[in-house]
Amino acid sequence: MADIELHAIEKRYGDTRVVNGVSLTIRDGEFLTLVGPSGCGKSTLLRIIAGLEAQDGGEVRVGGTCVDDRRPKERDVAMVFQSYALYPHLSVFDNIALPLRTRRLSFAERLPLLGRAFPRRRGIERAIRAEVEQAAAMLDVAHLLHRKPGQLSGGQRQRVALARAMVRHPAVFLFDEPLSNLDAKLRAQMRVELKRLRERVETTSIYVTHDQVEAMTLGDRVVVMKDGCIQQVGTPLDIYNRPKNRFVASFIGAPAMNFLPVDIVQKGDFFHAEAQDFSIRLPPQRAAIFARTNRRPVTLGVRPEQVCFGPCPAGHETAFSAPVEVTEQLGAEMVIGVRAGDTLMMASRIAPEAPIAVHDHVPLWLDPRGLHFFDRESEEAIN
Ligand code: ADP
Repeated sequence: MADIELHAIEKRYGDTRVVNGVSLTIRDGEFLTLVGPSGCGKSTLLRIIAGLEAQDGGEVRVGGTCVDDRRPKERDVAMVFQSYALYPHLSVFDNIALPLRTRRLSFAERLPLLGRAFPRRRGIERAIRAEVEQAAAMLDVAHLLHRKPGQLSGGQRQRVALARAMVRHPAVFLFDEPLSNLDAKLRAQMRVELKRLRERVETTSIYVTHDQVEAMTLGDRVVVMKDGCIQQVGTPLDIYNRPKNRFVASFIGAPAMNFLPVDIVQKGDFFHAEAQDFSIRLPPQRAAIFARTNRRPVTLGVRPEQVCFGPCPAGHETAFSAPVEVTEQLGAEMVIGVRAGDTLMMASRIAPEAPIAVHDHVPLWLDPRGLHFFDRESEEAIN
């Protein structure tokens, strides 16, 4: 096991800066997810850590040692790719065994016929078989060892690729969107299995994905990236509950956070967030930030699950009513879209006693714990 330190990593392709001064420490044994939109530099950063790509500036350290001069093979990292990268002409067994044979047997010993003449080969092969079978059992592919990759489903191929990475017992696992070739159902299933596997194998891991659900469910900590820069690093709940800026707030969470441009207006002792046809009174503890900073035009952010249906409970003053423009019936709950100023505000977790239809005017309130405010210009959170 090893910790990984990235110091001010820079990478350019031509004039385009792809990774822009990234510094980060991944702790020994930690599972870190790296999430961001396509093209934000996640894979490039991973490939730099693996040694598959050279950075233009900065340093990569593994276990306290600078590894910039080491080739991928010398870095003791195992990479799992979206494309599986299995050898089609080899059986599943031989694919999983390959890294062990390469490491433990000489070139001559690996030759199919000549190799048998070497007496030590038998003992090594026996040990390799036991290790391959153990990894295959862990990933539920033990019954497929004789097949070729072409005879496997996408999910099975990815399990084989994972088994091949695991038998190496590397210091670090690097995952590059390993589930993105799978359909939604299989993806969800593999996500759960990865999570279980994760509890048994405590190897430092970096997992790149553009899927925020994967990032949130798998990561001990999540790194959100945009345009080659880290936007926020934190535990999944930290990132969800305390996004540092509007980008993070909008990227994490589904359905996405609602954003409403409002003016903060003081009326007597109270502060109100107002837009056209929308006004709520801020709870005193949230209003305090505006009294202190005197910021007026802001963006109000609220997650759909915190837009609540019905009369506002006593003690909260965040009630408003709005016309319904969209309804989506999901069975136990429904999602509705209501007009609030210029925004179509989505409310999830709506379970009304009477049916709700488009054009109805419905009573709503915002859960005061779920109110976020962002500076209109910098888009940074106001706390
Ligand atoms: P992500 O993994 O976040 O989708 P990548 O790290 O793959 O993003 O790519 C970041 C940016 O760098 C993209 O705009 C991509 O087109 C560009 N890029 C990646 N690899 C190369 C390359 N070998 N040559 C030129 N541009 C590249």
